[in-house]
This record gives sequence, structure tokens and C-alpha cells, in this order.
Amino acid sequence: MLQAEQQADLVIVGAGYTGLSAARQYALLNPQAKVILLDAQLAAEGASARNSGYLVDSTLNDGHMSDNGLQQYRDKYALNKAALDCVADLVHAHQIDCDWDAGGKFHATALAANEAKLERFSQLLGELDLEHKIITGADLEQRLGTDFYRMALWTQGGVMLQPAKLGRAYIDLLPENVSLFENSPVLRWEAGTNQVRVVTPLGQVTAAKLLLAVNGFMAAGNIKRDRVFPLTLTASMTRPLDDEEYAAIGNPQPWGLLSAQAMGATVRITNDRRIMVRNTVEVWPRINMTGRQLMRRRAMHMRGLQRRFPQLDGRLFESLWSGITCISGNNAQVFDRLQPNVMVAGCYNGGGIGLATLFGQQMAYLASGQMTDLIAQIEARPQPSKLPPQPLLAWGVRLRLLRDRILARKEI
Ligand SMILES: Cc1cc2nc3c(=O)[nH]c(=O)nc-3n(C[C@H](O)[C@H](O)[C@H](O)COP(=O)(O)OP(=O)(O)OC[C@H]3O[C@@H](n4cnc5c(N)ncnc54)[C@H](O)[C@@H]3O)c2cc1C
Repeated sequence: MLQAEQQADLVIVGAGYTGLSAARQYALLNPQAKVILLDAQLAAEGASARNSGYLVDSTLNDGHMSDNGLQQYRDKYALNKAALDCVADLVHAHQIDCDWDAGGKFHATALAANEAKLERFSQLLGELDLEHKIITGADLEQRLGTDFYRMALWTQGGVMLQPAKLGRAYIDLLPENVSLFENSPVLRWEAGTNQVRVVTPLGQVTAAKLLLAVNGFMAAGNIKRDRVFPLTLTASMTRPLDDEEYAAIGNPQPWGLLSAQAMGATVRITNDRRIMVRNTVEVWPRINMTGRQLMRRRAMHMRGLQRRFPQLDGRLFESLWSGITCISGNNAQVFDRLQPNVMVAGCYNGGGIGLATLFGQQMAYLASGQMTDLIAQIEARPQPSKLPPQPLLAWGVRLRLLRDRILARKEI
């Protein structure tokens, strides 16, 4: 916990993937500098530990209508791929044990109406020369161990990993000139021309520069409040299935599957034979849910499990967690300066394992006064669009989620 008065060259608020990646890279680029990294809770224990573990290059896109649309998708793909490579370089260089599985990912649907969407996505991936295939019928059932889905598109590019192990490794990789203070919520910050000051309950830091890396907590901290908003995602995971249970679902190879329907369930079978289901997305005004509220979400996960694997008991779930993620109206991320010495990175719209690592790394270059090709590439991306004011925004998002949930009721 941060106590008393501290001085640093760079202070970073938020020790998820973004803050950890930025702290590491800045400290390496500036070995004489002192970096202070603060987190309100434990480092890499928020969304950066409790996500679904899909490190993706391509994201489902419903075809493209023009050359312009194709170029936009290419640009988006190029950035996601750079982000995936950024994580891959770290994982391979430091032999990080994070259950890295480069076997690709599935986009799947149980609804006939979504099949055309997957076919169009296949055409788009074909134009980008990205390896993929459409799987249906008995082949699909055998691959997944369930006959729930009608069609799946498998893409070669995605990596499945264990997100908490990756986050722990990012902490272990922090150089000695980084001081990490946990349980140190930043209550306020102020910035003058030459220095910034951040205040926690028991201490404060004065530094030359500040990086805000709080992602889903941006709006709560009054940062980019008119551009980004938080959403709460909740998931459950079973204990490892025993031999008999696993045989009952056909002993499938591990897989990760994203629904072709917005709000449809994200489902994984991990390499230690656990099944993970995430099928709730909510506007949630508080961070903590009551036990009863959590149990209602678990019941949704049990339904999701049993629809796909009726031979398994929903009580196999042994863990349940929620996390806050950050969304913008047009899926754009934040990589910006609020003032010359105050930077902010975040809002990865559900795709933050790679982008948070990359944006953190590139923020370190920016804060060191170094321009890179990747910074140019990131800055060329669209900015998050302006959102309606509260409470209109919260109600608008709730209505949209309700509509999506109704449309996705067969895929949840
Ligand atoms: C359930 C779930 C599933 C997801 N699945 C995927 C997936 O499969 N693939 C993918 O790529 N992404 C996924 N995401 C998104 C991904 O987890 C995030 O984009 C990523 O973790 C963002 O990292 P970050 O470091 O920017 O933010 P975070 O990990 O949220 O870290 C921000 C940190 O800031 C700290 N903080 C906040 N306010 C303060 C303050 N005032 N003072 C000090 N510290 C503060 C928080 O405690 C937190 O540790 C998922 C998210 C959730 C919730």
C-alpha cells in the first residue's frame, strides 16, 4: 500500500495488462527512471485475470459492403495482429506458462438465420488470405462434443490462454526500477505544466508524467466520460471433468467458441477439461453484486451448459466471477493525451488481452518521447464517438442489451 510522499518519473494508475505492460516497457527504455504503479486492488486481479482468455487477430465481421469497408477491416486486423504478436513475443521470449494454445477459435451459431453471416465472414477472411474453414453437421458435433450448433467458422489465427497466469507473469517481468503498490486507490489527480500529483488514502506521488490505465473504471474517474462506458460480464467455470464425464461429451480437443449472435454465449473447453460459459452482459451501477444476484447469473450459466451438454450436471460449476470491461459506441479504443504530461489508454471493447499489452507498450514509447510505426498506426484509428449524456446513455445501452438478449435467446 502506498504510504507517505513518493517521487517518480512516471506514475501509472491501474495494474492490469495495460499498466503492467507500460511500466515494464518504460522502465526498460529508461533504466535510470523511477516508475510507480498503483492499483486500487491487487495487480492483474481484475478483468486482466478474469477474462475468457481469447487472444484474437480477426473478429467476426458481417462481410463488407465496399472497398472502403475491406480496407477498414484490414486496418483493424493489422492492429489486432500486431497486438497478438506483441503478447506472443513476450510469452515466447520469457517462456511464460499461460497454457498457450495456438489452435485457433470458432465462431458458431445454433440459428439458421446466422449461417449467411458466417458465410460472408468466410468470404471476407478469404479476401485477406486468412486460413479458416466452415464446419457443419457430424464433423462439427464430433469436434465440439455437442450437437447444439448448426454451423461454425474456425479461424486459425486465435490463441486461447489462461489470462490470470499471463497477468501474474507480467508482474514477474517488472524491472527493478518499477515499484508496485497494491490496495492503493487513486482518489484524485491533478496536473500542472511540469508535474502531476496523484493522491491515495495514505499517500501521494509527485511525478513528471501520469498514465491512466484503468479501462472499465475510466468513466467512474471522470475520464473520457462522454466517449466510453463500462459493462459487467459474468462467467462460470466447472471443475475439471473426470474421465467418465469427459467421455460422455466425446473427449473433444480443447476449444474456444464465440457466438455469431451478439449476446450469445462465449464457451470454452480448457486443456484441463473445464468448461467455461459466459452469457451475461450488463450495465451495472456498482462493482459488487450480492450473493443472490450472482446466483441468478450462475443459473443462466447452468442453462447454457445444459443446453449444450445435457449429459452434464450444471452443479459442476465451481467458480463464478464478474469483471468490468470498457466499451465505446463505435468500437474504437482510447490512446490519447489529456494534457501534455497525462496519457490515457484503454477501452478495448472486449478484446483487451492483446491490445492492452500493445497499447501499454506503445504508451511507454510515447511517454519516453519516441515515435514508433505502431503509435502512428494506433493514432490513425478512429477515436471513440461521442455518446449521449447520462442517464440517457445507461437506458439506451440497457434497451440495446435487452433487444440483443431477446434475439440471442436461443444462443444463450
Ligand atoms: C468476463 C470478461 C471476459 C473477457 N474476455 C476477454 C477475452 O476473451 N479476450 C480479450 O482480449 N479480452 C477479454 N476481456 C477484456 C479484457 O479483460 C480487458 O480488455 C483487459 O483486461 C483490459 O486490461 P486493462 O489493464 O486495460 O484493464 P483492467 O484489467 O481492468 O485493469 C485496470 C486496473 O485499474 C485499477 N483501478 C481502477 N480504478 C483505479 C483507481 N482509482 N486507482 C487505482 N487503480 C485503479 C483496477 O483495480 C484494475 O486492476 C474480458 C473482460 C471480462 C470482464
